[in-house]
Amino acid sequence: MKKYDVIIVGAGAAGLAAAAVAQARGRRVAILDMGSTPARKVSASGGGRCNFTNMAAEYSRYFGQNPNFVRGALSRVSPNDILDWAKVHNIAATEKAKGQYFSASGADAVVSALLRDINKCDLITNCSVSNISKPDDVFVTETGLGTFSSDSVIIATGGTSFPVLGVSDIGHKIAKSFGHKIVPIRPALCAIATSAFSSELAGISLNAQIKIGRAIITDSLLFTHFGIGGPAAYRASLYDTADGIYIDLCPNTDVAQWLRTQKQTAGRKNMANTLNAILPVRIAKWIAGADTRNIADFKDTEIIAIANRINKIFIPANDIKLHGMQSAEVIRGGVSTDTISSKTMESKLCSGLFFAGEVLDIAGDLGGFNLHWAWASGRVAGENA
Ligand SMILES: Cc1cc2nc3c(=O)[nH]c(=O)nc-3n(C[C@H](O)[C@H](O)[C@H](O)COP(=O)(O)OP(=O)(O)OC[C@H]3O[C@@H](n4cnc5c(N)ncnc54)[C@H](O)[C@@H]3O)c2cc1C
Repeated sequence: MKKYDVIIVGAGAAGLAAAAVAQARGRRVAILDMGSTPARKVSASGGGRCNFTNMAAEYSRYFGQNPNFVRGALSRVSPNDILDWAKVHNIAATEKAKGQYFSASGADAVVSALLRDINKCDLITNCSVSNISKPDDVFVTETGLGTFSSDSVIIATGGTSFPVLGVSDIGHKIAKSFGHKIVPIRPALCAIATSAFSSELAGISLNAQIKIGRAIITDSLLFTHFGIGGPAAYRASLYDTADGIYIDLCPNTDVAQWLRTQKQTAGRKNMANTLNAILPVRIAKWIAGADTRNIADFKDTEIIAIANRINKIFIPANDIKLHGMQSAEVIRGGVSTDTISSKTMESKLCSGLFFAGEVLDIAGDLGGFNLHWAWASGRVAGENA
């Protein structure tokens, strides 16, 4: 049985970040991953350009039963620390939206940098972990390639979404076996299936506003064959949809007021042509339907009804379905943070057992917040394991 100081389960973003720090502390580290290549989600991230951090990374951009949990790690590892790290590795960082950083050198440059930082660790791929126990003072990790022992273990097995990249729920099972609670898991940062829109609209995107609970999201919305996608829908999928959602397709315009003005000034236009001034043509036609009357002939109640189909679209909970684990970027839920130290990432139930990254009940907003969480929580675990 090979013995290490630290065994890290999962060579993803969090596991590799943890390994680099543990290695720098002189710890003998093995990273075990079931895949044939490490950091596959990092490679796929940001459409291959890896949105690796966001200057706005602070607790309000995170979700979970206790989003405050992220404060400890985020105070230790800032977005600037990650930008400095990228610079050291000659990764060209480009700012897409304000504060949202991608790798202009591509996602694989980020993976190469992560691997350079762990050159003294044993990275063991095709090594699926099936169980971890602590019969006495050391951890015993059982894998398809045999058994390993270590003083500390960091569980960094990620979430179970996007299974085509190779995922497992072993982190949750191991956590449970040590007495940790698992917050129920569901897909997040994903498209939303709904019958509220016609499939004829598929492919159109526009700036829209989604109100969900107390949250107001203004971002690009993409119509799909089954409902809505794009950043606005992805971000909405992080929230509880039990009370339904409101969508405004024209957030800066009081459409009823605007249509009344059009009725006065351009009353001979039909509704589809009128709406085309503020909406993409296919949406304008879909809303006008078969009605070819001039707008001058519309009663005020009809104008209000049309405006509501633009400014106040309500989709009830029973017509909202998250579009599934297959395409979700992250999961909501995971190992409850109740019994994890936010300062060290160590279990409060078993000393020497650490958790980092998406395996925990923490999901970040769209925009680089999930990878930032993986780096920050991974580094903190690596400092303490
Ligand atoms: C398509 C896609 C695009 C994304 N784009 C972005 C983006 O641009 N920016 C952003 O911030 N976030 C993005 N995310 C989310 C982000 O990639 C994840 O939140 C992040 O990778 C989580 O890091 P992690 O280390 O916790 O888990 P992962 O990176 O998922 O790593 C977990 C590792 O554990 C290993 N593992 C699992 N089970 C076992 C086992 N039984 N034995 C051994 N090893 C095991 C897996 O093989 C994997 O390598 C994206 C996600 C997806 C799916």
